[in-house]
Amino acid sequence: MKTLMVTDPQMCSGCEACITTCKKAYGVARARKTDTIPIFCMHCHPDKAPCRRICPNNAIEVVDGEDGEILIVNEENCILCKLCTIACPIGIIAIDKEKKSAEKCTLCLESDNIIPACVEACKDNVLNVFSIEDLQDLKDDENLTEELREAIKTFKSKS
Ligand code: SF4
Ligand code: SF4
Repeated sequence: MKTLMVTDPQMCSGCEACITTCKKAYGVARARKTDTIPIFCMHCHPDKAPCRRICPNNAIEVVDGEDGEILIVNEENCILCKLCTIACPIGIIAIDKEKKSAEKCTLCLESDNIIPACVEACKDNVLNVFSIEDLQDLKDDENLTEELREAIKTFKSKS
């Protein structure tokens, strides 16, 4: 299972390319602007995800993606009650008025992109995909911030 996150908020220029790219790809942005950095679905564990647990019509389903299990909205089953938008702790679920359905990040499961479109669009190279194992390794590392800064610097100097 993988998740998306801004690895170094200080290096995010706030250009919102990730959000506009997502909106262009799916009609509705599945990421959200804040006063500081953009925020993305945290890809909660399928058994615990508040959006899935609250849905009265089992419209939020678990599917197998290349990166492990991913939660998607089955538009056919969505009755647009919007409970998931209230239950999500970061309010990241969007509503697609045309499709009459809730919308959430799928890490671009439905596209041919190898990496999510937002990650590709980020010119600041601050957006990355992590697995749970990666995150655990980072969590165990006391020098997290410094190491990440160095890694990003190296990545930027090579790109
Ligand atoms: S809006 Fe759709 S996906 Fe969200 S809780 Fe209601 S039925 Fe489920
Ligand atoms: S939409 Fe919200 S509650 Fe659902 S998996 Fe993403 S962060 Fe978790």
